[in-house]
Amino acid sequence: MNETIQHFIGGREVEGASGRHADVYNPALGQPCARVALASPEDVDAAVAAAHEAFPAWAATPPLARARVLFKYLQLCQQHVDEFAAMVTREHGKTFADAQGEVARGIEVVEFAVGIPQLLKGEFTDQIARGIDAWSMRQPLGVVAGITPFNFPVMVPMWMFPVAIACGNTFVLKPSERDPSASLLHARLLKEAGLPDGVFNVVQGDKAAVDALLDHPDVQALSFVGSTPIAEYIYARGSAAGKRVQALGGAKNHMVVMPDADMDMAVDALIGAAYGSAGERCMAISVAVAIGDAGDRLVERLAERTKALKIGEGMSQGAEMGPVVTQAAKQRIEKLIGEGVEQGATLVVDGRGHRVAGFEEGFFVGGTLFDHVQPEMSIYKEEIFGPVLCVVRMPDVGSALELINKNEYGNGVAVFTRDGGVAREFVRQVQVGMVGVNVPLPVPMAFNSFGGWKKSLFGDHHAYGPEGIRFYTRHKAVMQRWPNTASSGVEFAFPQMK
Ligand code: NAD
Repeated sequence: MNETIQHFIGGREVEGASGRHADVYNPALGQPCARVALASPEDVDAAVAAAHEAFPAWAATPPLARARVLFKYLQLCQQHVDEFAAMVTREHGKTFADAQGEVARGIEVVEFAVGIPQLLKGEFTDQIARGIDAWSMRQPLGVVAGITPFNFPVMVPMWMFPVAIACGNTFVLKPSERDPSASLLHARLLKEAGLPDGVFNVVQGDKAAVDALLDHPDVQALSFVGSTPIAEYIYARGSAAGKRVQALGGAKNHMVVMPDADMDMAVDALIGAAYGSAGERCMAISVAVAIGDAGDRLVERLAERTKALKIGEGMSQGAEMGPVVTQAAKQRIEKLIGEGVEQGATLVVDGRGHRVAGFEEGFFVGGTLFDHVQPEMSIYKEEIFGPVLCVVRMPDVGSALELINKNEYGNGVAVFTRDGGVAREFVRQVQVGMVGVNVPLPVPMAFNSFGGWKKSLFGDHHAYGPEGIRFYTRHKAVMQRWPNTASSGVEFAFPQMK
């Protein structure tokens, strides 16, 4: 507990000037395992200044040379998967296998970003008029910042900085103060890969650091991932300051189970998607919508499987689910479970007060299953962000669609059925950004883009993939004529093709 997790500014780890710190917990032990520096606005100024200074040379570096640095970083990441994953398990609590999966999905974004020479190619049109050619190019923005949540401390920053840097920007990352260690391993590996100092910086911290980034005149764009109230705040304040902002928020993801679904497949999918990572995933399924007579069959099997979940410290053999992130999160989740009972839902499996032998102080919540949940109950309306699955019963797919489309969130959704026609109509009509057909967590691959609709995303661009390239670059349209080609003399009318 002597370790202080520092900032990384201009290629060096620095303590910063604020003198403020927060404890970082090991949630399985319920004890602090380190402390993290919390940046002051002056620390943020130093990081932005380092990024600003590094920008011209990095932007002028040929894309292939930038890609080669990322290739080296990619190899280093592959060699450090377990080190990253162990950090995640220690500070977040998720199981080691789950943490390894998170690292693998982050690495895929680097595999995408090394294709940057191809991805940045513009369009060219010869002879748009006599003697004139036109083309487009995409140029980097300058200093861009990323503000990330606790639940994917390796992967979510990797949704942002590999793409931003590949495009020629310089980057300031403000990771979650709950699990900050992985950000410094990224910084060290990028430096080892040959990234020039100042291109990637980390400021640890809380609201003070975020506000300083939001207001800083040299920050051109902000990528945020976190809860909806903060996403909305970041979007409003950042865009009012003239910045480009993409702010991904919270979620309430439904999975519709039709009576003709493969029930074994649907139950496996629900157990993994509701309780994996203790439900602390923005793509977690927190509502199962059982159609018609699917309800009884589904709840019976879910109850059995929920009771049998293996809950333990993330490194322990066979653990399927770890603790939640903080004591406050545990209390909040258990309070919401109580509200579900008070408001009349049927509590089929109660995870409150769960104890793990040897880890009695850990922030564990057992798998919890509710049946007969109604849309006006707080367990339906709020993002619980814990291992709580709510079953809502509906008569048909039309009423399920109405329920989902009325929900304020629109991150992920799934339908389980054997009927292609039902699935097709569902995909077309649902007001949600990422849709799975017999796939519970339809998280797009690195070469597609990730993002929800409605209150799950503020801004126009989704994360990574082609949308990430567009977000981190500006489009420039060029027209060119040379003096030795035909000139038509002065023109006062609006230009037209001749
Ligand atoms: P959070 O909103 O509390 O924190 C996210 C970031 O914002 C952190 O870096 C934090 O330091 C900062 N922050 C917190 N309060 C702030 C404030 N008042 N002003 C300025 N900055 C502030 O989110 P979290 O608890 O770390 O993460 C869980 C949330 O993230 C869930 O709602 C989850 O759905 C969401 N999430 C969404 C996605 C997505 O892709 N849509 C992905 C992962 C997580």
